Amino acid sequence: MTTTKVHPQIASLRTLQAQDRRLTALERQLGGIPRRLKELDTDLVKLEQMLDNERTKLEDTRSFQTRQEIQLAEEEELVRNSKAKLGQIKTSRELNATQREIESTRRMITARTQEISKLQEAVDTTEARIAKMDAALSQLRSQAAAEKERLTTEQAKLERAIRRAQKSRSGLTAEIDRDTLRKYERIRRRTGGMAFVPARRERCTACKMMVAHINYMRLLKGQEIVSCESCHRLLYWAGHFPSADEAKQNEPKPKAAPAPKKKKRAAK
Ligand SMILES: [Zn+2]
Repeated sequence: MTTTKVHPQIASLRTLQAQDRRLTALERQLGGIPRRLKELDTDLVKLEQMLDNERTKLEDTRSFQTRQEIQLAEEEELVRNSKAKLGQIKTSRELNATQREIESTRRMITARTQEISKLQEAVDTTEARIAKMDAALSQLRSQAAAEKERLTTEQAKLERAIRRAQKSRSGLTAEIDRDTLRKYERIRRRTGGMAFVPARRERCTACKMMVAHINYMRLLKGQEIVSCESCHRLLYWAGHFPSADEAKQNEPKPKAAPAPKKKKRAAK
């Protein structure tokens, strides 16, 4: 077996890189949860504010309508009083004046009645809108509650997975010499992920640059870890880990790459 020839540190570092990649992904997922929880609250608050605005508008319209109704009642009272006065009027001039007053008040009554019915329409429309928004709000509330519960469960799950990963990580780091580990950590911070990458066909698979022949020969022997001269990542030879799936899994992907092609083979 080729793998038995590889220095154990290479295998350990390779496993560490795979786990660290997973750990980073877990931490990123965990980090996104508070933001999503906050977004749910923000959406609710927005809808609540809109609903409050509608309710305020409704109250304003209603109180305006009430004032109009009071004025209408006063105008109707005025017409009644004027009509009662008609019988006692002595002069035709006074009669004309009173009749003109009645007519003009009646015109005001007609206009105000129309205004009131328009206001009533507006009230009805706003009430219907409020009812719809209210329904949407309670739906959103229950959705948000369910989503929050899901996220909280997810959060706990991620935290457990991260604790497990960190524990197994400390087991692995103990098997790697301090200098290599320090270099690995430094590169990982700099690149935001991949620090120990396979070399294949005399190229670094991370930066795609050629590896100097002499260095590639050292990699093939599988006894030392060599740095890529271009990107300074630490290298191992892909051929020492022949499982295609594993190699694929450990293959670095450029950050802006399109969605990776799934290479799942149907079971034969
Ligand atoms: Zn490179």
